[in-house]
Amino acid sequence: MSAVLDAFRRHEALLEGHFQLSSGLHSSRYLQCAKVLAHPKVSEELCRELVTRWKHPAPDVVIGPAMGGITLAYELGRAFGVTALFAERENGAFTLRRGFQLAVGARVLVAEDVVTTGGSVKEVLRLVENLGAIPCGVMSLIQRTENSPFSVPYVALEQIIPPVWKPEECPLCREGGVAVKPGSRPGGVAARS
Ligand SMILES: [Zn+2]
Repeated sequence: MSAVLDAFRRHEALLEGHFQLSSGLHSSRYLQCAKVLAHPKVSEELCRELVTRWKHPAPDVVIGPAMGGITLAYELGRAFGVTALFAERENGAFTLRRGFQLAVGARVLVAEDVVTTGGSVKEVLRLVENLGAIPCGVMSLIQRTENSPFSVPYVALEQIIPPVWKPEECPLCREGGVAVKPGSRPGGVAARS
């Protein structure tokens, strides 16, 4: 078993059930990356591995979309030895708050825990470009798509393609189940259907 899958199993971050993903799609499996990234030693090792797989010049800055990308961006920033920022939604659009800035021409890598449709990452790539910096790549722990959804270099530690369905085509919904948003329940309650 790969180191990343082993880490996910050990920290109960691979859930089975009926889930509504942030993309709106439904799935019978969910990866709760936060449960792995909650362990700094593990995060550090996984991010070091990601960085060794990066075959391009190091970025000047790593940035992650809140919330999923914050911890990974921070740990990748440590591994690359560069600044780590995060982007937040304001009135629906990702933006830099808290006085965060990107230098014009800075090479910026976008970090996200799991890439499914890549929607949030694409928004942050556009934000980086609009601020005059250069989006140079994307990294994630898990890639849930067959092909990279990005036009910049993309490195993921592990590709896991679980079944996903549009809500109207979801067999678990058809059986009468209700999809849960993982992580939306109070702490300590496992997200299982
Ligand atoms: Zn469903």
